[in-house]
Amino acid sequence: MEYLSTRDKTLRKSAAQAITMGLSRDGGLFTPVSFPSLSALEVETLCTMSYPRRAAYIMGKYLEDFRAEDLARFAERAYSLEKFDTPAIAPLRKVDGRTWCLELWHGPTSAFKDMALQMLPQLLSASLRMTEEKKTACILAATSGDTGKAAMEGFADVEQTKILVFYPENGVSEIQKLQMVTQEGGNVGVCAVKGNFDDAQNGVKRLFSDEALREKLARRGYFLSSANSINWGRILPQLVYYISAYCDLLNAKEIKLGQPVNFCVPTGNFGNILACYYAKRMGLPVGKLICASNRNDVLTDFIRTGIYDRNRPFHTTMSPSMDILISSNLERLLFDMSGGKDELVREYMEQLAQTGRYEVTPGMKRRMQEIFYGGFCGEEETASSIAMLYRYGYLIDTHTAVAAKVLTDYRKKSGDRTPAIFVSTASPYKFCDSVLSSIGQVPVENSVERIAQMVDITGVAAPVRLAGLKGKEIRFRDVTGMELMEEKVLSFLE
Ligand SMILES: *Cc1c(COP(=O)(O)O)cnc(C)c1O
Repeated sequence: MEYLSTRDKTLRKSAAQAITMGLSRDGGLFTPVSFPSLSALEVETLCTMSYPRRAAYIMGKYLEDFRAEDLARFAERAYSLEKFDTPAIAPLRKVDGRTWCLELWHGPTSAFKDMALQMLPQLLSASLRMTEEKKTACILAATSGDTGKAAMEGFADVEQTKILVFYPENGVSEIQKLQMVTQEGGNVGVCAVKGNFDDAQNGVKRLFSDEALREKLARRGYFLSSANSINWGRILPQLVYYISAYCDLLNAKEIKLGQPVNFCVPTGNFGNILACYYAKRMGLPVGKLICASNRNDVLTDFIRTGIYDRNRPFHTTMSPSMDILISSNLERLLFDMSGGKDELVREYMEQLAQTGRYEVTPGMKRRMQEIFYGGFCGEEETASSIAMLYRYGYLIDTHTAVAAKVLTDYRKKSGDRTPAIFVSTASPYKFCDSVLSSIGQVPVENSVERIAQMVDITGVAAPVRLAGLKGKEIRFRDVTGMELMEEKVLSFLE
């Protein structure tokens, strides 16, 4: 399978090259030239497999130049009981007779980023071998919380890689900060940046485009790489759990083979829902794809009107991982919806950069609306969604609550009674403050104590690693100014 750039489809790369490069030089995203099909017989076979074996099989269809036994080993390592707290890895929880929740937060950092970031480092180091790259990949990341921790956890002690994460000094939750500064591993580094997330992010972007720095690093045997969801190696592992969830419904005799299922996905950068769309492209019987946003409803408007317009206020919400106005993976969908018109994608992306707005053709809008529904949910509705499911005995986080609410809205509006799965992207224990308030409790002062408080009140067990943060050794205390980030990188790679 070859990969092309969404901005120039004559540019072709192997999977290993696409994963090593991350982003195409022309700014486009690497996308498979075609989608391998998944037959009904194959779905039946997948039903008999464990999660790691399903992952190796599905990824093998896109990574033909990787050895099957390597992929099997990577999957066993990524989705092991050492890392995940349930053998199902991505379990389905039944909510009512035709609704399930796909829990993607049973990994080491309690957020769904683990599903991809436990796999990406292994794909990357294999890709380095296959492309005969001798230099060490230095992953630089700016994080607003979940990505940095999940990336470090994935890259910790992976050969031929080092990872340095920058986070805004006062822009992440205390739990998220503790998760990062206690990270273990000989090849990891963490540093706070004075400023907000945009400052940290801009600082990292500047480092990436600094040619002099690149040359300096190359002389020392390093090249810069990214763990962002623009990397194909992050999207691919995410296809697996949609197919796996379908198999689990079949195994539980809840549906018949070939029967469509709707998915509702809480969306930020459009990576997670894009993976579901790609699974549908392979032939998985997915009905409607419901794109759930919080108050930052740029995608809702886009799906409804065909106009993408980021010129609007940015809201800070209780579902911070979805506080985003530019969803970078949407570019891959545009490419597909336009029937592979790279010049059109290039034009839209130029308009977006210059005016913050573009409008797709009527044909693209129609195709998009056949498959996608867009909805959003405000802060009060998020809280009442948490309270409502809690009354039914199910404790969910703020991001998941957005998806649950938008699914309910969609059903009311459309009358569509297709069985549906909404996707749960974080453990409620990552957002104790908002979750406790939503169920009518007053959170205690100390953020680590809130975990125990929520266990006491709800009786729901907390993820062992989050509970274990209390008393864990702090390894990283560095704080740097924006202007000193380069020096931080150089001393990290000494
Ligand atoms: C990253 C994240 C999302 C958004 O996922 P995208 O792939 O960016 O759409 C939603 N919820 C949580 C908890 C996340 O960490």
